[in-house]
Amino acid sequence: MAWRTRFAPAPTGYLHLGHVVNAIHVWGIARAFGGDVLLRIEDHDRTRCRAEYEDALLDDLDWLGFVPDIGRTDSFRAARHGTPHPHPQRQSDNEDRYAAALAALSARDLTYVCTCTRRDIARLAPHVPGEEPRYPGTCRGARHAEAESLARRVHIADGVEPFEDRRLGHMQQSPAAQCGDLLVRDRHGQWTYQVAVAVDDMAHNIDVVIRGEDLLDSTGRQLQLAALLGREQSPQWWHHALLVHPDGRKLSKANHDTSIRERRAAGAPAAALLGEAAFLSGLLPAARDLSIDELPALFR
Ligand code: GLU
Ligand code: ZN
Repeated sequence: MAWRTRFAPAPTGYLHLGHVVNAIHVWGIARAFGGDVLLRIEDHDRTRCRAEYEDALLDDLDWLGFVPDIGRTDSFRAARHGTPHPHPQRQSDNEDRYAAALAALSARDLTYVCTCTRRDIARLAPHVPGEEPRYPGTCRGARHAEAESLARRVHIADGVEPFEDRRLGHMQQSPAAQCGDLLVRDRHGQWTYQVAVAVDDMAHNIDVVIRGEDLLDSTGRQLQLAALLGREQSPQWWHHALLVHPDGRKLSKANHDTSIRERRAAGAPAAALLGEAAFLSGLLPAARDLSIDELPALFR
């Protein structure tokens, strides 16, 4: 199989060890199996993303030694400063692509206008503690006028979405039962994570999606969306373990643990951070300095 993969951070904060764990997997696996790595800046959520965080993450990637094959960090910087440069992939530049996907789904009558607020959904959805709220399909048959809201949902068919995960084995998910009809665009006109990722992974010919298991639940949804959008060959999936602190706490990307920035400023060498991230995610039996060149051996 082909092994093109991607590193897809959202510039909503500084990089931290959880991102380093993901990058170790992405680059290590790509290098071990002859794949290449595309860097994609996932800034679809304009309210939370900041150019300052994008600059910082490009700089931290350089410092850590993660060099993308497609979308060099310099090409992102150049593109931002007005120098035309081929192919840096930033979701805020891809909005036409998401609009085209919505139009294609709408042409097949698979979408509808949703006028529900977050509070409406929380109130309506049968809510099991700890589970995400499921959209109950309130607006599905309502035929709201286009002008009533920018929010659009796509019909998610009942049924089970099976897939093989390279680490977790055979999986099955039921997006219709888990989350219900998916939001494609929200009421502020912003494209959602699920759609942006499914569309871009298809547009970029991503063969293997390597990400933390905190995103496992998104897989069935992205598979369904990709199928609706006509993707013929589904990507492979590799959901890796999250970083576990010595005290047993899991660190997801949403946690605000010490940033790479702060660790750098405090004098930590890149190899020490790589080794620490590899150890805390179970890739090394003990923490030690780890160089970028050693990553493929962790996965062979
Ligand atoms: N942009 C997402 C994040 O930073 C990752 C998307 C993905 O790997 O599917 O959490
Ligand atoms: Zn609704």
